Amino acid sequence: MNDRPTDRTQTAIQSKILHGKRALVIGIANEHSIAYGCARVFRQLGADLAVTYLNEKARSYVEPLAKELGASIFAPCDVAQNGQLEAVFQQIRETWGSLDIALHSIAFAPKEDLQGRLVDSTDEGFKVAMDISCHSFIRMARLAEPLMPEGGTLLAMSYHGATKVVPNYNLMGPVKAALESAVRYLAYELGDKHIRVHAVSPGPLKTRAASGLKDFDVLLTEAIERAPIGELVDIDDVGLTAAYLTTPFARRLTGTTTYVDGGLSIMA
Ligand code: NAD
Repeated sequence: MNDRPTDRTQTAIQSKILHGKRALVIGIANEHSIAYGCARVFRQLGADLAVTYLNEKARSYVEPLAKELGASIFAPCDVAQNGQLEAVFQQIRETWGSLDIALHSIAFAPKEDLQGRLVDSTDEGFKVAMDISCHSFIRMARLAEPLMPEGGTLLAMSYHGATKVVPNYNLMGPVKAALESAVRYLAYELGDKHIRVHAVSPGPLKTRAASGLKDFDVLLTEAIERAPIGELVDIDDVGLTAAYLTTPFARRLTGTTTYVDGGLSIMA
């Protein structure tokens, strides 16, 4: 069997292994978003989707994608606005009554903090980055728990800068480290309810969030040159791994960080 991404996707989608599963996807900004790749694979595998958008400005980009995905729930969600995440879960409770998968694929830091040295980061910038990129995942887990009485899967997007110093990743390094640690503690706390918690760590991908990092093109070039597989990953690659983690194939996996980076992170 050829192992090219498109063939892998085709093979995987025939199984409809997520038929009957309900998945919340937070983090689609446009068709380049990692969350969109995940939502597309979840849908192709048979899942019903709840899709959120950040605000009215984002709505016009996300709505056509939510329609194409046949999302049953389409709701605003700015995790920094009091009550919005809660409202999404209320809508899920009223519409579906339960939830199987919740994907958190969001990150934010004010531009000056993101592009400056960690040592110069402001109190406010660090707090905002930590709240939106990490603590909102914990809040999402808290809201998902009562809707997953028979278990479920929580997924968060991390990056290699969590464990190794990646020049220009700056304050997002410690923020993603906290996110990966939160994944471990949530996996421990929710394990007896069969709620599995995973971090997925993609290699660099050209998205809007990534365009905020200084010299991001250098990371892309290095990834192609240094990754054993010798190609960039795409959003379908991340979606396939995220989907795998939600299936019984991964039923004894929890709390770890799964890299989808063509092997880049094994290199010295
Ligand atoms: P993206 O810009 O497409 O997605 C980022 C999302 O975060 C957007 O949908 C945006 O609306 C959302 N967001 C920002 N602030 C928010 C808030 N207050 N409330 C709700 N949503 C908010 O970029 P992406 O690269 O797909 O990023 C998704 C995740 O993947 C992020 O956690 C990012 O750190 C991670 N990641 C990205 C890369 C990469 O190279 N692109 C690599 C590894 C990990």
